[in-house]
Amino acid sequence: MNDAPGPDTALNADLHSHSVVSDGTLTPEALAERAHRNGVQLWSLTDHDELAGQHRAAAAARRLGLAYLCGVEISVSFASETVHIVGLGIDPDDPTLVQGLAATRDGRDRRARLMADALAQAGVPGAYEGALRFAGNPALISRTHVARHLVETGVCRDTGEVFRRFLVPGQPGYVPHRWAALDAAVGWIRGAGGVAVLAHPGRYQRLGSLGEHALFEAFQAAGGEAVEVVTGSHSPDQYATYAELARQRGLMASRGSDFHSPQESRVDLGGLPPLPATLVPVWEALRTRVLR
Ligand code: AMP
Ligand code: MN
Ligand code: MN
Ligand code: MN
Repeated sequence: MNDAPGPDTALNADLHSHSVVSDGTLTPEALAERAHRNGVQLWSLTDHDELAGQHRAAAAARRLGLAYLCGVEISVSFASETVHIVGLGIDPDDPTLVQGLAATRDGRDRRARLMADALAQAGVPGAYEGALRFAGNPALISRTHVARHLVETGVCRDTGEVFRRFLVPGQPGYVPHRWAALDAAVGWIRGAGGVAVLAHPGRYQRLGSLGEHALFEAFQAAGGEAVEVVTGSHSPDQYATYAELARQRGLMASRGSDFHSPQESRVDLGGLPPLPATLVPVWEALRTRVLR
């Protein structure tokens, strides 16, 4: 009967963002300041497959009086799709998590060279060297860095165009890659004291509805407990779709901009609408993991 947002779902939590430690363009410190300035009340830096920014982010947040959850976004292979699992409230020094992520990162350099070879075949040379210049952390060289190079050199107008014309299945420069296994990634997160969140489920449309069902089943069977509902990757229609799915499946809900860069990101830190008030926010289960 209560349509007004409750105090918990109304919290301006932004639990998905990227720094120069992976494929963002701002430092952890600059992100903390931007989050604070934008009114974020609970923040998490969730770099891809890497924890090197966590202590910096937590220290910067503490200086600003901004509540912080340690975080990570793990690349996982499920069927033939790449799926992202966000871990929140993790211990960034947990050895099993640290080792698992190191193994997940392994092979990114080889993949980047193969992507560049494929782009060269398609008439776009020099992409490996070009991408490296954008990679703050060469071990985390990603499609985003290749995309920035293709924009800088005028091959595409913006990174959105890159991800339509290149680097995706069926287009030049796509290289299939084997990431972590879903149950392994969820296990590392739980073992490190965190909650596993299925990131931006609206982005896995290639799975089809049966595949999506299988993904949620496998995620929950592995111990996954939450799903991103309000994210920079979803349309308002998808907020409603995944809010309903969260309720049906008894999953907690998360909210995060997936902010990468002031130039590239559609949604700024803290800029999303609140979670629907009928959902259980993931931060309910993470009270003891918040750093202040
Ligand atoms: P990778 O981990 O190397 O496969 O790169 C994945 C990253 O590419 C994601 O984390 C996003 O930052 C970026 N990305 C993927 N798809 C898109 C898209 N359609 N538009 C802009 N960026 C994208
Ligand atoms: Mn990214
Ligand atoms: Mn992602
Ligand atoms: Mn992300």
